[in-house]
Amino acid sequence: MTGSISKSQVMAGLQCPKRLWREVKQSASQPMTLAQQHLLAQGQEVGRYARRQFPNGVLIGASTSEAIPATQRAIASGSTCLFEAAFEFEGVFVRCDILRHTSAGWELVEVKSSSKPKDEHIWDVAIQTYVLRGLGLSVATVKLMHLNTQTCCFPDLTDLFAIADVTTDVEALLPEIPLKLAQFNQYLSESAEPSLTIGKHCDAPNPCPFKTDCWQSVPELSIFTIPRLDWKKKQSLVADNILAIADLPANYPLTPLQRAYVDGVLTQQPTIDQDAIASSLAELDYPIHFFDFETHNPAIPRFAPLKPYAPFPFQYSCHILHADGSLEHRDYLHGDRSDPRPSLIAALLSDITAGSVVAYHKSFEASILRRLAQDFPDQAASLESISDRLWDLEDIFKYHYKHPGFRGSTSIKYVLPVLVPHLSYQDLAVQRGDQAQAVWDTMLSCSDEGSKAQRMQELRDYCRLDTLAMVEIYRVLQTLSVHSR
Ligand code: SF4
Repeated sequence: MTGSISKSQVMAGLQCPKRLWREVKQSASQPMTLAQQHLLAQGQEVGRYARRQFPNGVLIGASTSEAIPATQRAIASGSTCLFEAAFEFEGVFVRCDILRHTSAGWELVEVKSSSKPKDEHIWDVAIQTYVLRGLGLSVATVKLMHLNTQTCCFPDLTDLFAIADVTTDVEALLPEIPLKLAQFNQYLSESAEPSLTIGKHCDAPNPCPFKTDCWQSVPELSIFTIPRLDWKKKQSLVADNILAIADLPANYPLTPLQRAYVDGVLTQQPTIDQDAIASSLAELDYPIHFFDFETHNPAIPRFAPLKPYAPFPFQYSCHILHADGSLEHRDYLHGDRSDPRPSLIAALLSDITAGSVVAYHKSFEASILRRLAQDFPDQAASLESISDRLWDLEDIFKYHYKHPGFRGSTSIKYVLPVLVPHLSYQDLAVQRGDQAQAVWDTMLSCSDEGSKAQRMQELRDYCRLDTLAMVEIYRVLQTLSVHSR
């Protein structure tokens, strides 16, 4: 291997050789977003919890350059359980989450924040096993430690982890590794990057950081926006250099739904069923509540009786449209580390008493309300009543209103700029749900009141826009439905 590469770079190479080449040759890394930092911090927290299950473990905390000698010293001094032990073999540098000596030999345990083992995790531990065995360590068993989302409930975190023995799967992959490493070595010895087309691999198993660059020639109205077009067809179109819908052959086989979308793009004509929209809107009763939850789903649960990754709401926004046309806004945002749910429920039941509740993709709000009703049985009847009155604005765009500008999506992030161009998320500090989670967690840790107030305002602005967007979209639809009469 030309110089040393890390395990994560090997994993990048398994995803795409071009990604490996760029990660190794273009060492300047992209700054992490707040959401990425939040994810990283969560992974580190899971790692700390995992280590508690091995009380005699020794942490090799040294920097990358010092970690290998520190590991050698720890093993030589008789340590039988190591955290973050470091090794290098054939130019591949790895750090092992947990390595402990058993009567059968070394046991390698990799900690993952996921709820189940995934294919790429097997490759991950296979590479580590290859390196360790190459150095003469007798690795007898290989295990994946992942979060137990089945039976573990806060506050009892004794069974927070489930452990899967993947030794057999790893043994099956080991013979492939020398060839893979030789291929990577070949790619890295070239001064030009490997030429590879874009495809499904750009997002799987992980989103590639070079996508903006590699996908820059993909037009806005591309074949990737065609609803439910399978990847085999997309890949074959890419191979023929057909990226724009405008370049699709006229007789290209498509389902009726796909054909309708493609025709809409080609003619730039929306398809609007005004009568169906009018009859859907007629189902709504005043006062109409335009409602949205923001939730958090931490890997390590924080409140009873939640499991790992179970979502809980910490914020909502509600615009209330009255029969006389007046509009008012209510919201709730929890500002400290206590359980947000009791006070959020109290506010919610005071803000929504009668009338319809409009959500965008209502199954999400329904699932949160159902969960709150289960966990707070005293309030179950009122919460279920709100759930029963949910009405899904997204359904209009699934069934009755198609526009080429939606780019094949029914998401409010695509619908809003077409129907209500003056409203935009672009100027907001928080623009997506995962960012809202990260900002909320950051806000909880703020030590100065000014920063905390700023974060809270950012969250309020984001959630408020989510429900104001629904009001404005509703008004556009109402105008259409009036014209249909
Ligand atoms: S965006 Fe796709 S093609 Fe480009 S480096 Fe990443 S995975 Fe490879």
